[in-house]
Amino acid sequence: MRKVYLDHSATTPVHPEVLEAMLPYYKEKFGNPSSIHEYGKVAKVALEEAREKVAKLFNCSPYEIYFTSGGTESDNLAIKGVAFANKKKGKHIIISSVEHHAVLESCKFLKKEGYEITYLPVDQYGFVDPFDLKKNIKDDTILVSIMHVNNETGTIQPIEELVRIAKEKGVYFHTDAVQSAGKIPIDVGKLPVDLASISAHKIYGPKGVGAIYIRKGTRIIPLSHGGHHERSRRAGTENIPGIVGLGEAVEMVLKDMDKHNKHLKNLTETFFKKLKETVKDIQLNGHPEKRIPSTLNISFKGVEGESIILSLDMKGVAVASGSACTSGSLEPSHVLSAMRIEPAVAQSSIRFSFGRENVIDDVDYTLSVLPEIIERLRSMSPIYAQSKK
Ligand SMILES: *Cc1c(COP(=O)(O)O)cnc(C)c1O
Repeated sequence: MRKVYLDHSATTPVHPEVLEAMLPYYKEKFGNPSSIHEYGKVAKVALEEAREKVAKLFNCSPYEIYFTSGGTESDNLAIKGVAFANKKKGKHIIISSVEHHAVLESCKFLKKEGYEITYLPVDQYGFVDPFDLKKNIKDDTILVSIMHVNNETGTIQPIEELVRIAKEKGVYFHTDAVQSAGKIPIDVGKLPVDLASISAHKIYGPKGVGAIYIRKGTRIIPLSHGGHHERSRRAGTENIPGIVGLGEAVEMVLKDMDKHNKHLKNLTETFFKKLKETVKDIQLNGHPEKRIPSTLNISFKGVEGESIILSLDMKGVAVASGSACTSGSLEPSHVLSAMRIEPAVAQSSIRFSFGRENVIDDVDYTLSVLPEIIERLRSMSPIYAQSKK
């Protein structure tokens, strides 16, 4: 049976070249970068070379890049680190209602610690209205955190305007750029955010490593204490093989971004066009154009997303419903709910996220099994039958 992986928003396979670059740092180049002997120096050089590569992604100074254990830690550090460091100025934080759980839960924690959190609503496409942001900034607002690209829908938030408003009021701006990294440019000269999170395993790097961009001069305190690693902002011996992998992955995705975006666009457009011809009562969630080329979030009215996932899995096709973190629960996704998509329609949604190694045969194979699955599930669905009366 053919196997088709269409869940790249959850994680991506490590690219062979990335793995190749990492291996020596598990073997002969195993040194600790804090050591002053030859082994240490070799590791230290690799660490700083990776930092320079990641800095190119943001077009920033390497001194503004800090390595972490992934997107979740970067988001935690951005939110809690800024909140704790600036509590004398204020305790008000503004986020959008479609953020990743790493941001949502960090804020939930801060709320218990006496911070005030404002959740900005979104429209049917998942966009935050800049006017809403402007209206909600107060004297004690210290941070705004709004993601660049949504992980469930692939919608690109028009954050330029939002960043401008926050900066005008002197409020720090963090963006979760985990899903935009390597797909759209994040030049911090043109998009002057103060903090941005990325993760290696979403861009063909290894799991358990990420980075955060922190603009020079930003007031932030570390969450982990210990040695003076990462210029005292993140204690702990650096994950050198992982960091080398992240550097390599960033370099790779930057090098052929346009080529791969075209490839992904071709795959998703062909898939959606043909799907519309063969399956009725479907709906694309998120913005039809302002989206990254790899991700499609589609509702199949009248069927449970979970049932579609399991049926496709039996045919060798891996997809997701909403985010990986919310699957397993029957709650409709908070992202689709915030976009005011009816619960039943939200629960019928599937996220197809394509990657660089997918080919047009993957599209054809998926389309050869999906329509039958939907038809079978709909024939058993009382909700769908009722809607057709
Ligand atoms: C995957 C993801 C994260 C978490 O990154 P990890 O490296 O898995 O911790 C955070 N934000 C978004 C938008 C993501 O897609």
